[in-house]
Parts: sequence; structure tokens; C-alpha cells
Amino acid sequence: MSIGGEGPGPYDLGGRRARLLVVDDEPVFVKLIHQLFSAEHEVFMATSGEEALRIYARSAPDLILLDVKMPGMDGLELCRQLKRLPDARAIPVIFVTGHESLDEETACWNAGGVDFVNKPFNPLTLRNRVNVHLALKFQADRLREMAFVDGLTGIANRRQFEERLGQEYRRSRRNRTSLALLLIDVDFFKPYNDRYGHQAGDECLRQVAALLSSNMQRPGDLAARYGGEEFAFLLPETDAKGARVIAERLVEVVRQLNLEHLDSSIADVLTVSIGAAVLDPDSSDSCGALITQADAQLYRAKKQGRGRVCCSLTSEPRAEAVRP
Ligand code: GH3
Ligand code: MG
Ligand code: MG
Repeated sequence: MSIGGEGPGPYDLGGRRARLLVVDDEPVFVKLIHQLFSAEHEVFMATSGEEALRIYARSAPDLILLDVKMPGMDGLELCRQLKRLPDARAIPVIFVTGHESLDEETACWNAGGVDFVNKPFNPLTLRNRVNVHLALKFQADRLREMAFVDGLTGIANRRQFEERLGQEYRRSRRNRTSLALLLIDVDFFKPYNDRYGHQAGDECLRQVAALLSSNMQRPGDLAARYGGEEFAFLLPETDAKGARVIAERLVEVVRQLNLEHLDSSIADVLTVSIGAAVLDPDSSDSCGALITQADAQLYRAKKQGRGRVCCSLTSEPRAEAVRP
């Protein structure tokens, strides 16, 4: 039986198997849920709140079905703890309650649940409730992806970059750490399109983007498409020396992609120019100034012959700001 009837219907999950985390101290209930959903979804099971937290971390669930009454950490407390984790906020929690008390219902809403069903339940009702919330969650995921991911290359888009730049700027002020920005521009890209065609140009941008992405080394690093054939690379807690090393490596790895470019005036393969700027923790510069400086350095790199790095801040690194 397919959930919510045949065909896409109102519960279209886009053909993707959802991941459900079921938490209940009664093995009979867990087994029942497994039988109900395992044909269509991947089901992860936990019999206590503590175990659920452990399984949550590795299962990345799309939806959580949560028993309210459990020994030790109960469902309400588990839900409150989950909702404090940044990634868990967008995951719908449906409570399964044993009693039909109004206070318990209120407590479920207050803990952050999106819905609840009472035991004993009609299996079809539970399946439909679960799938309504999965469909909504998948739609929200898709919208978030469209809003923050560049459609051509699949890496972060400019909006995501600007949001992260703001966050990292505030963090660097708070923690008194430096923040580096690289602006990366493909050299002679107009002639590349003219010679090899726009589709080959698109493919080239995808390859450069993938390469930049694979060179993100820390969780805080961000490679983004800034616009056209220009990319941005954000490097928290990185000083001028570190930024230069990374930028020079990027120039080199793009060369090593070995993408033929016979209309480049400086090489027979595709190259990039990089402008690097670093926000010193002691300066009063705004994050807009960081972009302006990186852009000015990119302009210099172009002027000086392309296929190279120019960096705005060359002072000796502070001991705590050195990138290992
Ligand atoms: P420079 O070395 O000074 O950077 O020269 P350039 O030719 O790379 O720079 P210019 O700004 O003159 O041209 C950029 C080109 O990038 C023109 C534009 O058609 C192309 N471009 C921008 N976005 C895309 C895209 O999404 N796909 C493709 N194929 N080309 C794009
Ligand atoms: Mg260019
Ligand atoms: Mg450009």
C-alpha cells in the first residue's frame, strides 16, 4: 500500500526515501511503527531519549515520532533538547501520547512539536500525518536549497555568501580573530565562451566550483559563486599569510585542471586571478570594506598579468591567528 493513496497526490515526497526516527520505550510500539513505514521509508529506532540523541546525530532524520512518556528523559525534554540544536529546528516532531489530557497536549505544543496522535491510533491516520509533515519538510528543504544554492554549480550562492559573511564578521569581532576573503575571477572567460561555446563555459564554471569546494578545509570555510565567472572564498580565523598560501594553492590547482584555453593570452590552459583581503581583529573596518579591498586586489592581480594572487594585508600574523 502506498501512503496517502496512489500517485503523487498531496503527499508527494519527490521519490525520495525519508528517514524517520522513532523513539518509544515500548518495543511493541516501535515494532508496529517499523512495520508501518519500513516499506517506504528508512526507519531508525531508539528506546530512550538518551539513545535517540545518539542515533539522531548519525541518522539525520527528516521527521521524529516521539513517545511522551518514557523513563529517564521523557519525550518533551528530548524535544526541547533537540530544538536547541541548530540543524534540528527544521525537523518536524510528532508526539505520540498515551493520555488524552489537555495539559499534555499543551506541553507537546510548547516543547516544539508540530502535531500529535493519541495511542491507540488508526495506522492510516498516523501514516497520513507523518506524510503531510514530510511533504512540508521536503518543500521547505527545496525552497531553502533554491534560495541558498547556485543553480549552475551547486555551491553556495551570493545570498548564502552574504549571510555567512555577516555572521563570520560578527564572530571575528567577538572573538578577536582575523577573517580572510578571496575573490576569484576566471581569466579571459569571454574569449573562452566565444571559442568553446556557452555550454562548455558552463561546464568549466562547474569544474572550477567543484574544485574550490573540495579545497574547503575547515567547517567554517565557504566557497560561493559570487556572480558570473567570479567566486568568493571565505576563510574564518585566517590571517594574511594563511590567505595567501591558500589563494596561491587555488591558482595552482585551477591550472592543474588542465582545461584547454587557446585564447588565453597568458597560458594555454584556464587560469584564475585572486584578490585576497584580511580583516584585522584590531581594525574598525566594516565587512563591506573587506569586499572592497578584495575587489581592489583582484583588479591589481588582473593588471599585473592575471593567473596570480594579490593580497591587501601583508603584516606579520598574530600568533593566535595563524592558520595551521
Ligand atoms: P578577465 O580576464 O579580465 O576577467 O576577462 P573576462 O573575459 O573573464 O571578463 P569579462 O567580464 O569581459 O567576461 C566575463 C564573461 O563571463 C562574459 C560572460 O558571458 C561570461 N559569463 C558570466 N556568467 C556566465 C555563465 O553562467 N556561463 C557562461 N558560460 N558564461 C558566463
Ligand atoms: Mg574574468
Ligand atoms: Mg569577471
